[in-house]
Amino acid sequence: MRDYSAHQHTLAAPVSVSGVGLHTGVRVNLRLCPSPANTGILFQRTDLEGFIIEAQSRNVARVSYATSLMKKGVLISTTEHLLSALAGLNVDNVLVEIDNLELPILDGSARPFVEMVTKAGIRRQRARRGFLRILKPVEVVDGPRRIAIYPAHVFRVTYRIAFPHPLIGEQSIEFESGSSNYAIEIAPARTFGFLAELEMLRKNGLIRGGSLENAVVLDHKGVINPEGLRFPDEFCRHKLLDLIGDFSLLGHPLIGHVVAERAGHAMHAQLVSRLLREKNSWKLVLSPEAVAKAVSQPAPAFAISEAL
Ligand SMILES: [Zn+2]
Repeated sequence: MRDYSAHQHTLAAPVSVSGVGLHTGVRVNLRLCPSPANTGILFQRTDLEGFIIEAQSRNVARVSYATSLMKKGVLISTTEHLLSALAGLNVDNVLVEIDNLELPILDGSARPFVEMVTKAGIRRQRARRGFLRILKPVEVVDGPRRIAIYPAHVFRVTYRIAFPHPLIGEQSIEFESGSSNYAIEIAPARTFGFLAELEMLRKNGLIRGGSLENAVVLDHKGVINPEGLRFPDEFCRHKLLDLIGDFSLLGHPLIGHVVAERAGHAMHAQLVSRLLREKNSWKLVLSPEAVAKAVSQPAPAFAISEAL
């Protein structure tokens, strides 16, 4: 996996896919196009005269079951899996054309987006990348849920979840840029839900496009999908996948250690916006290699205290 490249990257060619939105159930065509340096990830509603929404924290709209972006009343919904794939593959600049309001859910993971990027190819650009290097800890706490970021030499994530379910229980996963392989270890992990909650979500107008083709569904004792799980800890891996997508809304790759305990989209978004507000907690740097020896403060030990 290419990693910590000093240069920005875009796609080598356009690439398309079609599918349905998880929550709206509507059919949508999506096209990823190469984009100039320093433009970042831009979403374009081709059904609304080409209206553009930047994939930036300031445009985050709703973050309960998905991360949606909104600008001047125009919505782009369920962006996190595509954003995760682009961040996981270190693609900085892409124009994402979409002809409806929600991205296709495809198989519920980021793997189909990784395959699109692989098919299109990645092109190196002349401009350098700016990294957001964490200088001091920033934390968001909400009862037993917590998310924090600490100074570190590389981008690293520790994610812990606890669900009172025999197949999940307590799970934790570590991801580190340069040593973990995003495409193999993280991208294939699918979104998941509990059978008992599906009715409530449907009543609220959500998951109209949801099926066993695009989500892992659990009943009280196990997974009801006939194919089973892709990883024993697929749940935790998916939370990490979501976090990587949500943190890409910072607009720059991170150099720091994110520790998340039973967090989710809303808390990811809170930490991202707090980080951007607390400008003395980070610094934009051009060369990640130069950072290494300057930072020595490790994340504190981190324990799950009780189950939900
Ligand atoms: Zn997700």
